[in-house]
Amino acid sequence: MSLVDQFPDITKSNAPLAPFTHLKIGGPAEFLVQPRTVDELNAVLTACQRDNVPVRMLGGGFNLLVQDDPIRGAVIRLVAEPFTFLKHVSTRVTAGGGGQLFDLIAFAVRHGLGGLETLVGIRGTVGGSVRCNVGDRSGEISQTVRTVTVLTDAGRVQERGRDELTFSEHQSDLDEPVILSVEFELDAEPPAAVLKRMRKAWIQRKAAEPLSGQAGVRLFRNPPGQTAATLIDRAQMTKAKFGGAELSERNSNYAVAHPGTTARDILHLVEDVRTKVKERTGVSLERELHVW
Ligand SMILES: Cc1cc2nc3c(=O)[nH]c(=O)nc-3n(C[C@H](O)[C@H](O)[C@H](O)COP(=O)(O)OP(=O)(O)OC[C@H]3O[C@@H](n4cnc5c(N)ncnc54)[C@H](O)[C@@H]3O)c2cc1C
Repeated sequence: MSLVDQFPDITKSNAPLAPFTHLKIGGPAEFLVQPRTVDELNAVLTACQRDNVPVRMLGGGFNLLVQDDPIRGAVIRLVAEPFTFLKHVSTRVTAGGGGQLFDLIAFAVRHGLGGLETLVGIRGTVGGSVRCNVGDRSGEISQTVRTVTVLTDAGRVQERGRDELTFSEHQSDLDEPVILSVEFELDAEPPAAVLKRMRKAWIQRKAAEPLSGQAGVRLFRNPPGQTAATLIDRAQMTKAKFGGAELSERNSNYAVAHPGTTARDILHLVEDVRTKVKERTGVSLERELHVW
C-alpha cells in the first residue's frame, strides 16, 4: 500500500516541489506529505521506515537545491499549527520547527526579548534555521538555543539539550529526521532597544544579498578567517554563469536563477566556481547549499 492509500488526506503523489523552494526549480516528489499532528507525522515516519521509503524534511527551501529528476520517497512539510506555534514563559521562547524564523524574531521583539533580532532578514523555518545554524559575524542562532525537541528514527520524541549539540559555521550535528520544536533562552530588554538593533541588522543584511526580486541561494561556507565571496572574486569568477544561473553581482557567494534555469545549471556553476577557486587560490570551498 502506498503512502497515498494509507494517508490520503495529507499526501499528494508526484507533487511539484519547485513552488516550495526559493529557487523555484527542481523535480516533483514521489509523495508530498503535510501531517496535521505529531501523531500523524509519527505514523507517516513509521510507515516509511517499515516500507523502506526515504524521508526528507522540507523547510522554507531557502538553503536547498532540488534536482531536476523526480525525488523518490516522501518529502514532509510541517505547516499545521502543532508545528508552527510560538509561546513564551519569562525569557524562554518555544517555537515549532515548521514556523517561520521571521515570525519567531517578531514575537521575541514584541515581548522585549533580545538575542535573535540580528538574524532578521534570514529566511527559513525555525527547524531549517537551527539545523543549518544560521547567522553571520553578528551572531548565530545556536547562541540562543536551549533545547531542541526531535523525533527520532525510532519514532520517539526526545529533547536534546544545548550541551549535547555541536554547532559550527552554518551546520549542526542534528541528524534526527525531524526537528519538532526549539526552545530559546533570550534576554529581557526594552523592546525599543531590540527593535533598533533589528532595524540596523535588516539594512546591513539586505545590502549584502541579491536583490529581493531575484531567486538566489548561498553556495559555500566561509572558510576560517576568510569569506567565500572574497575568494571567488580573487579567483576572477565574479561574473561566472552557466545556462540560466549566474553569480549575484552584489555578492559572489550567491547564485541567481533566471527563468528557465535548471538544477543542472546551478550544480555546473557550483562545480566550476569550486574548481577555479581551488586552482587559483588553493582553497577548497565547502558547499553550504543542501542538494536533493
Ligand atoms: C537570499 C538568501 C540569504 C540568506 N542569508 C543567510 C544568512 O545571512 N545567514 C545564514 O546562515 N543563512 C542564510 N541563508 C540560508 C538560509 O536562509 C538558511 O539556511 C535557512 O534558515 C534554511 O531554512 P529552511 O527552512 O529554508 O531550510 P530548507 O532549505 O528547507 O532545508 C535546509 C535543510 O534543513 C532540513 N530541515 C528543514 N526543516 C527541518 C526540520 N523541521 N527538521 C529537520 N530538518 C529540517 C532540510 O531537510 C534540509 O536538509 C540565506 C538564503 C537566501 C536564499
